[in-house]
Amino acid sequence: MNKYENKNRIYLSSPHMSEEGYEMQYIQEAFDTNWIAPLGKNVNEFEKDFASRVGAKHAAALTSGTGAIHMALKAAGVGKGDIVFCQSLTFSATANPIIYQNAIPVFIDSDYETWNMNPKLLEEAFEKYPQVKAVLVVHLYGLSTDMDKIMDICNKHNVTVIEDAAESLGTYYKGKHTGTFGEYGIFSFNGNKIITTSGGGMLVSDNEERIEKVRFWATQARDKARHYQHSELGFNYRMSNVVAGIGRGQLKVLDQRLAKKKYIFEFYKRELGNLDGVQFMPINKWNEPNCWLSCLTSKRKVSPIDIMEALEKENIESRPVWKPMHMQPFFAEYDYIGTDVSEKLFQNGICLPSDTKMTDEDLGRIVEIIKKLWRG
Ligand SMILES: *Cc1c(COP(=O)(O)O)cnc(C)c1O
Repeated sequence: MNKYENKNRIYLSSPHMSEEGYEMQYIQEAFDTNWIAPLGKNVNEFEKDFASRVGAKHAAALTSGTGAIHMALKAAGVGKGDIVFCQSLTFSATANPIIYQNAIPVFIDSDYETWNMNPKLLEEAFEKYPQVKAVLVVHLYGLSTDMDKIMDICNKHNVTVIEDAAESLGTYYKGKHTGTFGEYGIFSFNGNKIITTSGGGMLVSDNEERIEKVRFWATQARDKARHYQHSELGFNYRMSNVVAGIGRGQLKVLDQRLAKKKYIFEFYKRELGNLDGVQFMPINKWNEPNCWLSCLTSKRKVSPIDIMEALEKENIESRPVWKPMHMQPFFAEYDYIGTDVSEKLFQNGICLPSDTKMTDEDLGRIVEIIKKLWRG
């Protein structure tokens, strides 16, 4: 592909570095002190700043959100043959680490009120599998799960909750940051997330001993000895000091990104909210979402495929809502508790371009292309 070919493309959500150049300052510092790797000041400061931003006591910076989920499962004691309840409507990175640990996922459907795990079905799942080891909930597209209900049920059964908050940095549930309700919360800094380090993740917890243990596993599980001594299985999951510099800079502009994401969502809602058969993703009164992606369902006159095709013709990226895990060939053999809610959201849902670099002109163009489908 010609490197200029996509210059005017509008993306779903692409990296957006600070205008102030904070990221380069921290990277420069890492170069100047030769703390390119491993670890160093940027990693320590990024962990501290991040934990305080979300209101968690401790954080471990890792190479990806997927790695963070893997480490959370391991820290929760999930191992061979253990059952883990997992939201079905999500990206495969939520569920894959369950398999890395040789555990068994049981997928649970969403509800229309939150698009996330249905607490009633979670209760049903507990009846069927009382031996479950952990529950993995997701805050999809920056919408929050109904955490009070989820935590009540899981506390009653004394089961560890892990929150996949990869898409919900900046999202609050009843004034508390998502990812800080369960024993573990994970975040992602992949290229399309609300802030990015080019790639990376964070595990947060109030349990200092477990976070220390994760840092140990994530640096090859090296025992304290002069020689290379290993008493446990190790992983190479630690974030580099250069990458953490990007993270420190990005964290400084998170509030700007949040404001723009909300602006984009409000823009679409105002312009497209009255179209026949269109319903925007649900914002509950207790949910303060980050609006990472603006999503809607379109059920009557125009299908999501029509919208995607019309936008693609104009070099504008959009995507269907995640295809549920229980519909994925790889996960077909595992149990699923639910009806057709996540399937319907997948069939009727679309994620609109939500790139924070978009101008009002870009947004105007997008809504015109979409409105035309309803007129035509
Ligand atoms: C992006 C994402 C992840 C994975 O994060 P990576 O940093 O890309 O490994 C996990 N879960 C969800 C819901 C995500 O959107």
